[in-house]
Amino acid sequence: MSIADNLMAVQREVTGAALKAGRNPDSVQIIAVTKNVAVERAKEAAAAGFLHLGENRVQELQHKAPLIPGVRWHLIGHLQSNKVKYMIDKVHLVHSLDRWSLAVELDRRAREQDRVMPVLVQVNVAGEETKFGLQVSEVRDFVMDAADLKGIQIQGLMTIAPLVENPEEVRPVFRETKRIFDRLREIPRVQMEQLSMGMTNDYPVAIEEGATMVRIGTAIFGRREY
Ligand SMILES: *Cc1c(COP(=O)(O)O)cnc(C)c1O
Repeated sequence: MSIADNLMAVQREVTGAALKAGRNPDSVQIIAVTKNVAVERAKEAAAAGFLHLGENRVQELQHKAPLIPGVRWHLIGHLQSNKVKYMIDKVHLVHSLDRWSLAVELDRRAREQDRVMPVLVQVNVAGEETKFGLQVSEVRDFVMDAADLKGIQIQGLMTIAPLVENPEEVRPVFRETKRIFDRLREIPRVQMEQLSMGMTNDYPVAIEEGATMVRIGTAIFGRREY
C-alpha cells in the first residue's frame, strides 16, 4: 500500500467514525505524524493534500521544516524549555503544554517575535506514571492562569491514551477528556476548540468521543524503524 492509499483508508475511517457519532467529518483534522519518517515519505503525504504534519522532537522538525514547504507543523511531543527558541517560529500548534515553566517560556519567546503561539494543554487523564501531562485536578487552575499570558493562546486539550489491544478499553479516557473539555468551555475567557486525541490504535473511538484532531503515524507511514 502506498502512503496515498493509506491516507485514503485513514480518511475513510475518520469519515465513518464521525458519521457514526452524528458529527461532520470535516470537524476532524488528520495530523500525519512524520517522526522517524524520511523526508521523501513525509513529502508524499503533503503531495496527497495532507498539509498538517506532526513531529515529537524539535530537532527533527527543524530539519524537515525547510525541506517540506507549505505544511503546518504540529509539535506533539514533550518539549524541553531550552528548545522553545528553535521551534517558536516554525510551529502551527503545540499539543504538549504540560507544565507552567513551559507556558512561561513559550509566552516569552513568542512575544519576542511578536507572535501568539497556539497551544493545547496536555492532560494525563489515564494517570499513567510514565506519561507527561497535567493531572486532571490541576487543569482548571492551569488553564485560567495561562489565559493571562499574552504570548500564548490555549485552544484546547490533548491526551494520550494507554496502549491497549482493544481500543474500547480506552473509550472512558476519551470520554473523560471530552467532559473536562466541555466544562472548561464554560469559562468565558477561555477558548476551547480543539481536542487532540486518538492515534493509530484508537482514533475511531477517539472521534466517536469528540476528538477534533487525530495524530496518526503508523497507519499512514507503516511501522517506524528505530
Ligand atoms: C508517535 C505519536 C503519535 C502517532 O502514533 P501512531 O501510533 O504511530 O499513530 C501520536 N501522538 C504522539 C504524541 C506521538 O508521539
